[in-house]
Amino acid sequence: MYLNPVYILFALPALLLGLYAQFKVQSTFKKYLRVANARGITGIAAAQELLAVSGLSHVTVEGARGTLSDHYDPRSKTLRLSQAVAGQPSIASVAVVAHEIGHAIQDATGYTPMKLRSGLVPLVNIGSYLGPILFMLGLFAANSQLAWLGVIGFSSAAVFALVTLPVELNASSRALELLQSSGIVVGQEMAAAKSVLDAAALTYVAALAQALSTLLYYVSLLGGFRRD
Ligand SMILES: [Zn+2]
Repeated sequence: MYLNPVYILFALPALLLGLYAQFKVQSTFKKYLRVANARGITGIAAAQELLAVSGLSHVTVEGARGTLSDHYDPRSKTLRLSQAVAGQPSIASVAVVAHEIGHAIQDATGYTPMKLRSGLVPLVNIGSYLGPILFMLGLFAANSQLAWLGVIGFSSAAVFALVTLPVELNASSRALELLQSSGIVVGQEMAAAKSVLDAAALTYVAALAQALSTLLYYVSLLGGFRRD
Protein backbone atom coordinates (compact mmCIF):
# COMPACT_ATOMS: atom_id res chain seq x y z
CA MET A 1 0.00 0.00 0.00
CA TYR A 2 1.17 3.49 -0.84
CA LEU A 3 1.77 5.09 2.58
CA ASN A 4 1.77 8.80 2.03
CA PRO A 5 1.54 11.30 4.95
CA VAL A 6 -2.17 11.90 4.35
CA TYR A 7 -2.81 8.22 4.83
CA ILE A 8 -0.94 8.12 8.13
CA LEU A 9 -2.37 11.42 9.39
CA PHE A 10 -6.04 10.94 8.48
CA ALA A 11 -6.93 7.51 7.14
CA LEU A 12 -5.22 5.51 9.86
CA PRO A 13 -6.89 7.42 12.77
CA ALA A 14 -10.25 7.10 10.97
CA LEU A 15 -9.67 3.37 10.58
CA LEU A 16 -8.79 3.02 14.28
CA LEU A 17 -11.87 5.07 15.24
CA GLY A 18 -13.95 2.68 13.13
CA LEU A 19 -12.50 -0.36 14.88
CA TYR A 20 -13.04 1.24 18.29
CA ALA A 21 -16.64 2.15 17.40
CA GLN A 22 -17.35 -1.44 16.32
CA PHE A 23 -15.89 -2.76 19.56
CA LYS A 24 -17.82 -0.17 21.61
CA VAL A 25 -21.19 -0.83 20.00
CA GLN A 26 -20.85 -4.59 20.39
CA SER A 27 -19.62 -4.50 23.97
CA THR A 28 -22.22 -1.93 25.09
CA PHE A 29 -24.98 -3.89 23.37
CA LYS A 30 -23.86 -7.15 24.96
CA LYS A 31 -23.59 -5.53 28.38
CA TYR A 32 -27.13 -4.11 28.38
CA LEU A 33 -28.59 -7.18 26.71
CA ARG A 34 -27.90 -8.85 30.06
CA VAL A 35 -29.56 -6.06 32.08
CA ALA A 36 -33.32 -6.55 32.35
CA ASN A 37 -35.54 -3.50 32.05
CA ALA A 38 -37.72 -2.76 35.08
CA ARG A 39 -40.97 -3.54 33.28
CA GLY A 40 -39.62 -6.86 31.99
CA ILE A 41 -40.84 -5.98 28.51
CA THR A 42 -39.28 -7.81 25.51
CA GLY A 43 -38.21 -6.04 22.33
CA ILE A 44 -41.13 -7.36 20.35
CA ALA A 45 -43.68 -6.32 23.00
CA ALA A 46 -42.07 -2.88 23.22
CA ALA A 47 -42.22 -2.62 19.41
CA GLN A 48 -45.94 -3.35 19.36
CA GLU A 49 -46.61 -0.89 22.17
CA LEU A 50 -44.48 1.91 20.69
CA LEU A 51 -45.87 1.43 17.17
CA ALA A 52 -49.40 1.67 18.57
CA VAL A 53 -48.77 4.88 20.57
CA SER A 54 -46.99 6.40 17.54
CA GLY A 55 -49.96 5.71 15.26
CA LEU A 56 -47.91 3.31 13.16
CA SER A 57 -50.09 0.20 13.32
CA HIS A 58 -49.56 -0.28 9.56
CA VAL A 59 -45.90 -1.18 10.21
CA THR A 60 -45.34 -4.94 10.29
CA VAL A 61 -42.79 -6.58 12.57
CA GLU A 62 -40.66 -9.46 11.32
CA GLY A 63 -37.56 -11.36 12.41
CA ALA A 64 -34.07 -10.60 11.07
CA ARG A 65 -31.10 -12.97 10.84
CA GLY A 66 -27.84 -12.18 12.61
CA THR A 67 -26.78 -9.91 15.45
CA LEU A 68 -27.39 -6.15 15.43
CA SER A 69 -29.16 -6.61 12.10
CA ASP A 70 -32.24 -4.72 13.33
CA HIS A 71 -33.59 -2.20 10.83
CA TYR A 72 -36.65 -0.45 9.53
CA ASP A 73 -37.37 -0.92 5.82
CA PRO A 74 -39.21 2.18 4.53
CA ARG A 75 -40.15 0.52 1.22
CA SER A 76 -42.12 -2.34 2.73
CA LYS A 77 -42.92 -0.48 6.01
CA THR A 78 -41.42 -3.36 7.94
CA LEU A 79 -39.55 -3.36 11.22
CA ARG A 80 -37.11 -6.29 11.29
CA LEU A 81 -35.76 -7.35 14.67
CA SER A 82 -32.92 -9.74 15.47
CA GLN A 83 -33.66 -12.68 17.73
CA ALA A 84 -31.83 -11.27 20.76
CA VAL A 85 -33.54 -7.88 20.49
CA ALA A 86 -37.02 -9.32 19.90
CA GLY A 87 -36.92 -11.93 22.64
CA GLN A 88 -35.00 -10.39 25.55
CA PRO A 89 -36.62 -8.15 28.16
CA SER A 90 -33.44 -6.07 28.31
CA ILE A 91 -32.50 -2.40 28.21
CA ALA A 92 -30.50 -2.94 25.00
CA SER A 93 -33.52 -4.56 23.31
CA VAL A 94 -35.92 -1.70 23.98
CA ALA A 95 -33.27 0.93 23.08
CA VAL A 96 -32.64 -0.69 19.67
CA VAL A 97 -36.39 -1.15 19.05
CA ALA A 98 -37.14 2.49 19.90
CA HIS A 99 -34.35 3.67 17.58
CA GLU A 100 -35.78 1.69 14.65
CA ILE A 101 -39.26 3.03 15.41
CA GLY A 102 -37.63 6.47 15.32
CA HIS A 103 -36.81 5.69 11.67
CA ALA A 104 -40.41 4.55 11.08
CA ILE A 105 -41.64 7.90 12.47
CA GLN A 106 -39.17 9.77 10.22
CA ASP A 107 -40.60 7.85 7.27
CA ALA A 108 -44.22 8.50 8.26
CA THR A 109 -43.64 12.24 8.82
CA GLY A 110 -41.53 12.73 5.67
CA TYR A 111 -38.40 13.78 7.58
CA THR A 112 -36.29 15.59 4.94
CA PRO A 113 -32.79 14.18 5.70
CA MET A 114 -34.24 10.65 5.46
CA LYS A 115 -35.82 11.39 2.08
CA LEU A 116 -32.55 12.93 0.92
CA ARG A 117 -30.64 9.87 2.11
CA SER A 118 -32.95 7.46 0.23
CA GLY A 119 -32.70 9.63 -2.88
CA LEU A 120 -28.90 9.49 -2.74
CA VAL A 121 -28.71 5.69 -2.80
CA PRO A 122 -28.70 5.19 -6.62
CA LEU A 123 -26.21 8.06 -7.02
CA VAL A 124 -23.89 6.59 -4.39
CA ASN A 125 -24.08 3.15 -6.06
CA ILE A 126 -23.03 4.60 -9.41
CA GLY A 127 -20.42 6.90 -7.85
CA SER A 128 -18.69 4.25 -5.78
CA TYR A 129 -18.70 1.86 -8.75
CA LEU A 130 -17.39 4.32 -11.35
CA GLY A 131 -15.17 6.37 -9.00
CA PRO A 132 -12.25 3.89 -8.68
CA ILE A 133 -12.43 2.96 -12.39
CA LEU A 134 -12.29 6.58 -13.58
CA PHE A 135 -9.60 7.41 -11.05
CA MET A 136 -7.32 4.54 -12.15
CA LEU A 137 -7.97 5.25 -15.83
CA GLY A 138 -7.10 8.89 -15.19
CA LEU A 139 -3.84 7.93 -13.49
CA PHE A 140 -2.81 5.48 -16.19
CA ALA A 141 -3.74 7.80 -19.04
CA ALA A 142 -2.13 10.77 -17.22
CA ASN A 143 -5.47 12.52 -17.63
CA SER A 144 -6.09 14.59 -14.50
CA GLN A 145 -9.63 15.57 -15.54
CA LEU A 146 -10.64 11.92 -15.74
CA ALA A 147 -9.00 11.24 -12.36
CA TRP A 148 -10.86 14.18 -10.80
CA LEU A 149 -14.11 12.77 -12.18
CA GLY A 150 -13.21 9.63 -10.25
CA VAL A 151 -12.73 11.70 -7.09
CA ILE A 152 -16.21 13.17 -7.58
CA GLY A 153 -17.48 9.59 -7.77
CA PHE A 154 -15.71 8.78 -4.48
CA SER A 155 -17.13 11.90 -2.86
CA SER A 156 -20.69 10.53 -3.15
CA ALA A 157 -19.86 8.05 -0.36
CA ALA A 158 -18.78 10.92 1.90
CA VAL A 159 -21.95 12.90 1.11
CA PHE A 160 -24.01 9.81 1.93
CA ALA A 161 -22.20 9.33 5.26
CA LEU A 162 -22.75 13.02 6.03
CA VAL A 163 -26.51 12.84 5.37
CA THR A 164 -26.76 9.58 7.33
CA LEU A 165 -25.50 11.23 10.49
CA PRO A 166 -28.50 13.55 11.20
CA VAL A 167 -30.89 10.71 10.26
CA GLU A 168 -29.31 8.41 12.85
CA LEU A 169 -28.93 11.03 15.59
CA ASN A 170 -32.53 12.14 15.12
CA ALA A 171 -33.79 8.53 15.30
CA SER A 172 -31.91 8.09 18.58
CA SER A 173 -33.25 11.29 20.14
CA ARG A 174 -36.80 10.26 19.10
CA ALA A 175 -36.07 6.85 20.66
CA LEU A 176 -35.12 8.32 24.03
CA GLU A 177 -38.25 10.52 24.04
CA LEU A 178 -40.41 7.50 23.19
CA LEU A 179 -38.84 5.33 25.88
CA GLN A 180 -39.35 8.04 28.48
CA SER A 181 -42.87 9.11 27.53
CA SER A 182 -44.09 5.50 27.29
CA GLY A 183 -42.51 4.61 30.63
CA ILE A 184 -40.77 1.59 29.05
CA VAL A 185 -37.50 2.91 30.45
CA VAL A 186 -37.49 4.55 33.86
CA GLY A 187 -35.02 6.36 36.11
CA GLN A 188 -31.41 5.26 35.80
CA GLU A 189 -32.21 2.90 32.92
CA MET A 190 -32.39 5.99 30.73
CA ALA A 191 -28.62 6.56 30.96
CA ALA A 192 -28.03 2.91 30.00
CA ALA A 193 -30.36 3.15 27.00
CA LYS A 194 -28.59 6.35 25.95
CA SER A 195 -25.17 4.70 26.12
CA VAL A 196 -26.36 1.92 23.78
CA LEU A 197 -27.62 4.51 21.29
CA ASP A 198 -24.52 6.72 21.65
CA ALA A 199 -22.27 3.74 20.89
CA ALA A 200 -24.30 3.07 17.74
CA ALA A 201 -24.04 6.75 16.74
CA LEU A 202 -20.25 6.60 17.04
CA THR A 203 -20.13 4.00 14.24
CA TYR A 204 -21.77 6.54 11.91
CA VAL A 205 -19.30 9.25 12.95
CA ALA A 206 -16.48 6.79 12.22
CA ALA A 207 -18.01 5.94 8.83
CA LEU A 208 -18.04 9.64 7.94
CA ALA A 209 -14.42 10.07 9.10
CA GLN A 210 -13.41 7.08 6.98
CA ALA A 211 -15.23 8.33 3.88
CA LEU A 212 -13.69 11.81 4.26
CA SER A 213 -10.18 10.47 4.84
CA THR A 214 -10.44 8.17 1.81
CA LEU A 215 -11.50 11.15 -0.26
CA LEU A 216 -8.62 13.21 1.09
CA TYR A 217 -6.22 10.37 0.36
CA TYR A 218 -7.19 10.22 -3.31
CA VAL A 219 -7.10 14.00 -3.63
CA SER A 220 -3.57 13.92 -2.16
CA LEU A 221 -2.52 11.27 -4.70
CA LEU A 222 -3.75 13.57 -7.44
CA GLY A 223 -1.86 16.48 -5.90
CA GLY A 224 1.39 14.51 -6.33
CA PHE A 225 0.35 13.43 -9.80
CA ARG A 226 -0.19 17.02 -10.90
CA ARG A 227 3.25 18.09 -9.69
CA ASP A 228 4.83 15.39 -11.86
ZN1 LIG B 1 -30.61 3.85 12.61
